[in-house]
Amino acid sequence: MLQLAGGCPACGLDYGRFNVGDGAAAGVILLVGIIVMPLALVVDFRLAPPWWVHALLWGPLVTGLSLALLRLSKGLLVALEFRHDAGEVSRMPPPDAPNSEQP
Ligand SMILES: [Zn+2]
Repeated sequence: MLQLAGGCPACGLDYGRFNVGDGAAAGVILLVGIIVMPLALVVDFRLAPPWWVHALLWGPLVTGLSLALLRLSKGLLVALEFRHDAGEVSRMPPPDAPNSEQP
């Protein structure tokens, strides 16, 4: 569900060259925490439910939000890599390679 497809079905763009790493997960962790923690604190201070109500509420919410936002953020990072032609540094030629731009 969270794996990138092999390529674009419309234009054949190879997604294998994109590597979003852990950037998507780090952003999603922060965002889900910002959303869920205030809700959990408000519910606890106002209603003081038993611990299992918290487990029933926040477990599925955190899981669902994380999965949904991971798909979105990975897609966004792939789009940004494509837009800015970002990639691994190893794609650059070594400094002593002949310059192909000179005649
Ligand atoms: Zn395409």
